Formats: sequence, C-alpha cells, structure tokens
Amino acid sequence: MTFYLATSNQGKLADFAGLAPTVHWELLPGFSSLPRAEETGRTFEANARLKAEFYSQYTDATVVADDSGLEVAALGGEPGVDSALYAGRHGDDEANNRLVLERLHGVPLNQRQAEFVCVLAVARAGRTLACFTGRAAGVILEAPRGDGGFGYDPLFFSSGAGCTFAELDPAAKGRYSHRGAAVRQIAEWIHHAGR
Ligand code: IMP
Repeated sequence: MTFYLATSNQGKLADFAGLAPTVHWELLPGFSSLPRAEETGRTFEANARLKAEFYSQYTDATVVADDSGLEVAALGGEPGVDSALYAGRHGDDEANNRLVLERLHGVPLNQRQAEFVCVLAVARAGRTLACFTGRAAGVILEAPRGDGGFGYDPLFFSSGAGCTFAELDPAAKGRYSHRGAAVRQIAEWIHHAGR
C-alpha cells in the first residue's frame, strides 16, 4: 500500500522514512512543480486537511499531509500552528529556536513543559478520509543538544526518550515522537479497514 506524502520538508521526509514499515511512503510524484497549498487554517487539523485535499487533486492515489508544531505551555501554546515561521521567515529553524529561547529566558526548567503535535490527514480525490493526531511530551532546554533531526528537535527534551529528539536517529525518534504516534494510528486504520 503506497501513500503519497505531500511535503517539501526534508526533516519530515527523513522522519517518515524511519517509520511504520507496513506503510510504504513516497513523495507525491511531481510535488516540487505543483502549486503550493496556502496554509490559512488556525489549527493543525485544518491545515493538514487543507493540504491533503489540495494535493490529492493531482493524483489518483491516496495522499497524506502532515501539519505539526510545538506548543510551549509557558508561551500560551506558541509557536503552535506558526511553528515553521515563528521568527518571521518560513523554515528558519535557527532563528525559530533562538526566539523560543529568548521568550523563555528566566523561566525555570520545571515550568518549560512543551508538546509536539502532529496531525496527519489522509485524502483522496480532494476529500479527507481520516485524520490522526499524535503528541509527544517534553521540556524545552536552555540550550540546544544534539545535531540530528530538524526544527525544534535540539531544544526538545523528550520525557519518553530521556534525551532531545536531535540526539536520536529517525527510527529511535519515531518511537517517541508525535509523528511516530500519528503514523502508528494510520497503520492501525489501514489494518482494520483491510485497505
Ligand atoms: P508545517 O510545515 O506548517 O507543518 O510546520 C511544521 C514546523 O513545526 C516545522 O517547520 C518545525 O519548526 C516544527 N516541527 C514539526 N514537527 C517537528 C519535529 O518533529 N521536530 C522539530 N520540529 C518540528
């Protein structure tokens, strides 16, 4: 069973490559030359649906779109749906991490709880078939640790893993991550529906 991923985010693609061997992931053919879906939603689910529905119009196959981000309790849930462009420029991970650290300056470790959230929307021919949400709990460190992963991984100390996501390879990250949790739900869904 092949699922086409609709994403240009290399970090997400690396995560998927290490996940759920029962699901075969491939980048949607021709994705880079397709127009971009506008992410106008204010929730992860709204944006995941919007992307999956938009890109599934360009193929007969099933498309999966990922909308995800970091929610920091002490920042009122920020960066949230604005995770990719928190500091102003889309995909500038370094600037985004710097801004999170600046905004958390002086906040003690026991008040730096955060959650990664990943919503995966599955769509076919412009219609969403299902949505799955995965979460991962942790705290935001005062300085980055590790050089794997992407985005906020070096700052996110995973409670489950006992280290930052940037200190794990994609397969190990997947055991504890929000994306891994959502992908496991897709695998279950496929299994139960006999797809
Ligand atoms: P999206 O492309 O609008 O879903 O934005 C996702 C953004 O959330 C990324 O650019 C990262 O900043 C952040 N993010 C989502 N998942 C992860 C993860 O697994 N590790 C680190 N950062 C993530």
